[in-house]
Amino acid sequence: MTDILNLYDLPHNQLVDLLKQWGEPRFRADQLWQWLYKRKAPDFASMHTLPAALRERLAAETRIGGAEVTKERHSTDGETRKYLLRMPDGQLIETVLMEYSGVRRTACISTQAGCALGCVFCATGQMGFARNLTAGEIIEQVVHVGRVLEAVDERLSNVVLMGMGEPFHNYDATMAAVRRMIDPEALAIGQRHVTVSTVGLAPEIRQFAQEDVQVRLAISLHAATDRERSALLPINRQYPLDELLGSVRDYIDQTNRRVTFEWALIAGENDSVEQAHTLGKLLKGLLCHLNVIPLNATNGYKGRPSHPAHVDQFVEIVEEYGIPTTVRVRRGIDIHAGCGQLKASVMKGGG
Ligand code: SAH
Ligand code: SF4
Repeated sequence: MTDILNLYDLPHNQLVDLLKQWGEPRFRADQLWQWLYKRKAPDFASMHTLPAALRERLAAETRIGGAEVTKERHSTDGETRKYLLRMPDGQLIETVLMEYSGVRRTACISTQAGCALGCVFCATGQMGFARNLTAGEIIEQVVHVGRVLEAVDERLSNVVLMGMGEPFHNYDATMAAVRRMIDPEALAIGQRHVTVSTVGLAPEIRQFAQEDVQVRLAISLHAATDRERSALLPINRQYPLDELLGSVRDYIDQTNRRVTFEWALIAGENDSVEQAHTLGKLLKGLLCHLNVIPLNATNGYKGRPSHPAHVDQFVEIVEEYGIPTTVRVRRGIDIHAGCGQLKASVMKGGG
């Protein structure tokens, strides 16, 4: 199954080439593209505008994705759903759908099975790296969530690449998938409604600045000194704050777009008055926004979320430096669908 061509791995021109090789007229590729991205057809049988012989050949030689939903959990408030997807080679990944009362429908998608970067408080980091996802496997998560919503006449409005994995460690597949998401002829998500989150890979931040897309960039900061950041995010030893912020400044100069910094507030670790001032000084004057979120608990890390009073105090201080700040509402905690809680737990023990 894994070596059968996944149609979601092909950009439009390659799909055209494939059908051309098969002797099909150009409009057949456009029809197939529509079935894949606009109608999100789950199988070839439903593609009734295609001739039966073509459908049969497609079914024999290609596949429409390949992820199987092996588990689905709904949070008790009914606003967050988590899907465990099994890839054809058995790898498991998680995708989350968040509904914000009538305003937004956001998919939080994975870019890798596991993650190699080992941030201490992140469940994905704690499980280690399995493999990169292909562009098709990244896209398919968006298609899946889109199908779920369209079945009840709703529409996916936002995508955040904040699930399992580091998008910039799988740069090419991530960018190919992002292009497909924002393509009006494909999934047609508004460019500014797509956010790529990185742990802070400076060279890729500079590369991303050169892309001709308007999607948003978020950077996981979590600490404002190298000593503290390296203890939480080992990658900081490779790209210390000076270098990271240098790349972020270049990105802003190049794109003129506001970046978001992420800060998981951990009690007694990165939520003090002094740390708030250090952060304020570090970010002062940058075209940015700060997103703080009380830490979500994970098994492999003993840290706890900050007390609400400390969250308020932290935000108040940072805002004194002119940095717009929001406290992110923690979502789906009861089903372990919150930020940094994603892991394919059923893989544990070889299952
Ligand atoms: N690899 C990327 C994107 C996936 S993680 C990155 O690190 O940015 C998405 C966000 O969740 C990041 O900001 C990450 O730092 C944060 N996160 C990880 N573990 C968390 C936890 N236990 N509680 C709160 N946020 C967490
Ligand atoms: Fe990887 Fe992001 Fe988790 Fe760090 S926070 S381990 S980069 S997924």
